[in-house]
Amino acid sequence: MTPTKRKQVLKALDVDTWVRRDAETHVEAAPLASPDATPDEPASAVAVMPEKRGRGRPRIHPLPGSAPAMAPPVSAPKMVVVPRSDYVAPADWDGLRAAVKDCNRCKLCPTRTQTVFGVGVENAPLMVVGEGPGADEDAQGEPFVGRAGKLLDEMLRSIGRSRRDNVFIANVVKCRPPGNRDPEPDEAEACRPFLERQIQLVKPRLIVALGRIAAQRLLQTDEPLARLRGPLHQYGPERTPLFITYHPAYLLRSPREKAKSWDDLKKVHRYLLEHA
Ligand code: SF4
Repeated sequence: MTPTKRKQVLKALDVDTWVRRDAETHVEAAPLASPDATPDEPASAVAVMPEKRGRGRPRIHPLPGSAPAMAPPVSAPKMVVVPRSDYVAPADWDGLRAAVKDCNRCKLCPTRTQTVFGVGVENAPLMVVGEGPGADEDAQGEPFVGRAGKLLDEMLRSIGRSRRDNVFIANVVKCRPPGNRDPEPDEAEACRPFLERQIQLVKPRLIVALGRIAAQRLLQTDEPLARLRGPLHQYGPERTPLFITYHPAYLLRSPREKAKSWDDLKKVHRYLLEHA
């Protein structure tokens, strides 16, 4: 049979791999991972080995050096190390607000409606940091004003705290990432001097980061939330104690995690009482 005819027959039979029974070595291989495969996708490099006489389908072996067919999930790639910004943010509240308002230091600037500076008591003992403004925050210019914001207010109220009385709330980035995507490391770095200055001015006894993205950007790590949540970390030149818990938007999607979140809140409450 000519190669062309064989191709037509195999196609008609919906067979995409054909191996000669008398072949000594593998004669055809599935393609290596497609060029547009993401790093999270296991490599699909396999070789189709000769079918043994009288057996069924060809055996599939991993190619040397490629991921096995049933490989465990590949761990997330390390974050890109972003060059540290040498920008110095204004050292007083008014200057800082003005600098943020007119800022165009990263690629989030063109798509925002307005910057979202932060809200709350300027010398609060507790500072809460989220990842970035969403659509409601972008429209109103205040952090955590949507459904997640309402839940955050309830959570804070449960430990006797509020943005009006004793909490300052800010985000890692002050402008809304388009489509509510996660802020990228270079954007977080561009905005870091503003957040660091806010922390220096507020001088909180404790920072609480909400969710994986805020935690990862603050700690410049790619560790999963499960590893970051629990211990007390430190943030910035002031080595401010930093505690990590779930983002209220995640709790809205996964109410079963509220019990763990409540445990975290109790720890925050106790810490603030013990470090008054
Ligand atoms: Fe400036 Fe921060 Fe907005 Fe980027 S996210 S434009 S650094 S204020």
